[in-house]
Amino acid sequence: MKEYTTSPAGLTTLEALQRQEQFGKNELTPQKKESFFHKVLHIICEPMFLLLLVAAGIYFILGEPRDGAIMLVFVIGIISIDVIQEWKTDKTLNALKDLSAPHVKVIRDGQELTIASVDLVPGDLMMVYEGVKIPADGIVIKCSDLCVDESSLTGEAEGVWKITTENVDPSSDYWRKDYCYAGTLVTQGTATIQVDKIGATTEYGKIGTNVAAAPDEPTPLQKQTGSLVKLCAGIAAVLFALVGVVTYINIPDHAFGDRLIESILAGITLAMAMIPEEFPVILTVFLSMGAWRLAKKQSLVRKLPAVETLGAVSVLCVDKTGTITMNQMTVQDTWAIDGNVDNLCEVMGLGCETDAYDPMEKAMLTHCEKVGFSKEHLFGGQLITEYAFTNELKMMGHVWYHDAEIIIAAKGSPERILTICDLSSEELLVVDNKIREMSEQGLRVIAVGSMKPATEAEIPPEITDCQLTLCGLIGLADPPRESVKNDIALCTKAGIRVVMITGDNGITAASIAKKIGMPNSDHIITGDMLNDMTDEELCEKVKDVSIFSRVVPEHKMRIVKAFKENGEIVAMTGDGVNDAPALKYADIGIAMGKRGSEVSREAADLILMDDNFSTIVYTVRDGRRVYTNIQKAVGYVFTIHIPIALAALLAPLLGVGPGSLLLLPLHVVLLELIIDPTCSIVLERQPAESDIMERKPRDPKEKLLNASILLKSIAQGLVLFAASFGTYYYVLGQNPENPELARTMGFAIIMLANLFLVQVNSSDHDFAFQSMKRLAKDKVMWAVNIGTLVGLFIILYTPLNAFLKLAPLTVSQFFIAFGIAGVSVLWYEIVKLIKKNYHV
Ligand code: ADP
Ligand code: MG
Repeated sequence: MKEYTTSPAGLTTLEALQRQEQFGKNELTPQKKESFFHKVLHIICEPMFLLLLVAAGIYFILGEPRDGAIMLVFVIGIISIDVIQEWKTDKTLNALKDLSAPHVKVIRDGQELTIASVDLVPGDLMMVYEGVKIPADGIVIKCSDLCVDESSLTGEAEGVWKITTENVDPSSDYWRKDYCYAGTLVTQGTATIQVDKIGATTEYGKIGTNVAAAPDEPTPLQKQTGSLVKLCAGIAAVLFALVGVVTYINIPDHAFGDRLIESILAGITLAMAMIPEEFPVILTVFLSMGAWRLAKKQSLVRKLPAVETLGAVSVLCVDKTGTITMNQMTVQDTWAIDGNVDNLCEVMGLGCETDAYDPMEKAMLTHCEKVGFSKEHLFGGQLITEYAFTNELKMMGHVWYHDAEIIIAAKGSPERILTICDLSSEELLVVDNKIREMSEQGLRVIAVGSMKPATEAEIPPEITDCQLTLCGLIGLADPPRESVKNDIALCTKAGIRVVMITGDNGITAASIAKKIGMPNSDHIITGDMLNDMTDEELCEKVKDVSIFSRVVPEHKMRIVKAFKENGEIVAMTGDGVNDAPALKYADIGIAMGKRGSEVSREAADLILMDDNFSTIVYTVRDGRRVYTNIQKAVGYVFTIHIPIALAALLAPLLGVGPGSLLLLPLHVVLLELIIDPTCSIVLERQPAESDIMERKPRDPKEKLLNASILLKSIAQGLVLFAASFGTYYYVLGQNPENPELARTMGFAIIMLANLFLVQVNSSDHDFAFQSMKRLAKDKVMWAVNIGTLVGLFIILYTPLNAFLKLAPLTVSQFFIAFGIAGVSVLWYEIVKLIKKNYHV
């Protein structure tokens, strides 16, 4: 690739397109697309479909091509449902991936715009700043204070200060000073970089193999259900043999070949009924749909397992500034030690960045403007040097040639600034009182000091070597977001502890905490206390302390560790570069979409597009909803399979002939056609139950199918079995010559019961009519319910019934079936009533 020179206006859109054509996308490994054919093949290879195909094949061998053909039609129906579903989830997940993929600022057509990093082309001008992970190799065209952490490439931990290409000495080493490399991290400063190499041709790309994308791991739930499916398949295999043998013994009058085939068929019916092929589908559909719904609410899930973990969150650690508060600062109070407020404001302004992006500095400059110091006046002189702000120092300063003298303007947290001011002990007392007074109002207090060295040589090398004169104090207000108070109350009710983390001082933090109704707002751990504590002490302390003040990002890691040590499931927010390790370590790392750094976003499980605390609470609530819906769906699948499996097992054992069975393979498939959409559409859409935020967080160790759900499912399934199979068996006894009628009664009962079951099981507390009411407006719900009924009518009352070996029911027979179906499910409402009245 030759080096391009790009005009300051950047590439044109057309040039960019052409270059993308020429060089491809900026990605390490081109994305593979699974072909449609591949997908279908993948689905057909599932054990369930193999069984179906074997059954269809046997029909053909048996000389019943009509039955075989019907089976095949159904199989195609189920495959289509599955393919559509998979296509939809894939699309959803890809859209989510695109949304959370890294972006970069470039200049194109003379304008600044943000594009996806994969769309960078050689020659692009990209702009980087603190916290950006550089997405391509390029030459530094313009830079100020640019420091890059290149350890991912060179292993060198020390940051590298970059210079522009015209200042470089040509005999430099392999790693150039005027060049930025993909995969490295901007830790300070800003720069404009002209992209030189992209994708696999970058230095990072050349390392090759070890940076290949990690494959998607199955989520814990997927693993759990995986073993559940295996268990069921094992049981199915055993019962398959049992039913096969029993059927064989039952029909001694058939020819050997027929006998064998009928036995296999009976066995297959049972095996089909036993394999819970829906489980894996439920998980992928529910989790990805859940993530999609969250994305629409400004909460971007980067890792699918996060959706299930969310429901178990028990501690929410959040940054105060910007998440709990609005991050809209205003200067509310100024106090000059010598009464000279003008001087205080001028020094404060001089101490700000010339291109301030920090909301606090912006507020300060706005205030300066208001009292008559324009930016032109403040920054009209010459900036000699600056003392950079660091989290450890918590102060910063600028040295200006201003109005024909040298002035050092410094500002920062009062504790730190006061250590470099020369104050008498009486003055110190006055200042301390003032600081407390301002802090108690919830203001962030900043101290401002100045120094006027006579010559440049007298400028101290470090800010800590300065001898400042204190000008005064500034009190900045950053009001809490309006909804926060409600949200905190909601969390408290839901058994979730909210922990506030802030760089501000303890008094300010406590005052804000009190304002928003945080419990225990006067227990505080400061950064210094944290440094002096052992990990064990911290574990003990965090049990009742919820405010951490004057902390630096590095402390967050210890805080997360302490909570996790105590068995809590921790969600932690972060925006800075240094927050990344804590975000990774937390169960749910939450990055800020607006003000967060690229690195923190990459480390996070969740990106909060609006940086709002309420969104976190909503996300946790929705995580709980998704999890309970998965539980409901799994319970439902369990329940509905019990009558099907038991019927397939018991009929042969009772000596019913192969032609008179309640369910032939055909009917099992037909039922699957209803069960599938019921699960993945109806149950997935279930809104949260009203008390979802009044329960304690779920125990993370709890199994998906816990004892109470299992018990409930088995009870419901057995009753349903008794009702459907009992009716079938009774009608068959009355009309042995008309097995179709008996079968239709049993079959209709299962189908109708399915409708009731969804309503009854949509809550463990609310009654079915309440959940009906909630869903009355949901068109999709109605479509599925009415679809089931229409489907039932079609298979009963059109000529189709002969193909399906069913018989039309009379009106009274239909209503008897309807009534039995109702009773066989609605009895559970009485259980709810009892539970409600006796609080069990
Ligand atoms: P938070 O995590 O609450 O946003 P920060 O870590 O940003 O807090 O800031 C911690 C403290 O550092 C502030 O309370 C303030 O005293 C000081 N500080 C932050 N930014 C600046 C700045 N630009 N100039 C001077 N002091 C600052
Ligand atoms: Mg801050």
